[in-house]
Amino acid sequence: MPVAIVTVPAPEHDHDDHPENARRVPAIERILHSSGLHSRLRHLAPRPATPAELTRVHPARYVEALERVMGDAPGYIDHAPTYITPESFACAQLAAGGALRAVEAVLDGEAEAAFALVRPPGHHATPTQAMGFCLFSNMALAARHAQARGCAKVMIVDFDVHHGNGTQAAFYADPSVLFISTHQHGIYPQSGEEAETGEGAGRGATVNIPLPAGAGDAAFHRILEAVLAPAAARFRPDLLLVSAGYDAHWRDPLAALQISTTGYYQLVSGLRALAREHCGGRLALVLEGGYDPAALAHSVAASLHALLGDAPAADPLGIAPYPEPLARIEATLYRVRGLHGL
Ligand SMILES: [Zn+2]
Repeated sequence: MPVAIVTVPAPEHDHDDHPENARRVPAIERILHSSGLHSRLRHLAPRPATPAELTRVHPARYVEALERVMGDAPGYIDHAPTYITPESFACAQLAAGGALRAVEAVLDGEAEAAFALVRPPGHHATPTQAMGFCLFSNMALAARHAQARGCAKVMIVDFDVHHGNGTQAAFYADPSVLFISTHQHGIYPQSGEEAETGEGAGRGATVNIPLPAGAGDAAFHRILEAVLAPAAARFRPDLLLVSAGYDAHWRDPLAALQISTTGYYQLVSGLRALAREHCGGRLALVLEGGYDPAALAHSVAASLHALLGDAPAADPLGIAPYPEPLARIEATLYRVRGLHGL
């Protein structure tokens, strides 16, 4: 079965001096062409998320207020800083729709796996607040879309270097969505402590893995083995969704984790294996962060090679510069496993 992509480069949602700018998706597209990946993928057309789809996660008053604030653009709507242009609402609607389209492709059997290469990103946007370069919660909307189309249980893995606070907020009390976030401890948005495990009926369905600076390929190999695999086996999802942020790459300017391009290949290969084992291979990825253009582009390409079942391609960017703090990583995983009975 093919692997699909849906791209939303959103050239009108742009700010030249900002790391989350309109050059990001074209940088990926150039490598898809030069590597030969482009012709091996099924290309899906995005469509805007409808008001009914958006209000599965965001209250109507939030959607209306966000549309209204475009009248004040260009400007900033939070201190991350999250910028808006007059076209940002339409771009965000299309980005969310791109994520929904990826879910549809996987559920309808058009593709085994799909990757929504969309922006603006989504995982910091809570149901009621735009923040952290994010306007709509693309991932939460994708999960609710899957549930509306018959998936009872959805597992989300968020490997962006920042905590996926917005996705967490959408499902904190909901046992039907297992949310697992890996992130660098102590950076923006300052949430994602191990003790944040969900509330009410959702207790235990939120898993946070805050990592020390320097964690990289070895850490993520252990996370797959020690947390993601047993959590998936226990939860038995109908669909695996991934918030794919590439700002945990060692070259990324915004944070200090150390995944390599090859490390992303291995991580996505592992996630593909989990999807094949537990949910018929159904796997959809949605782009989040990633602010070093070369690291972003090569790591997305490496992820697509993994989804296609290819051998790893050569890694032109090389391995991380510093050793990983392995003892601290193991201590973190030991505590997380204890908290969650894994
Ligand atoms: Zn990020």
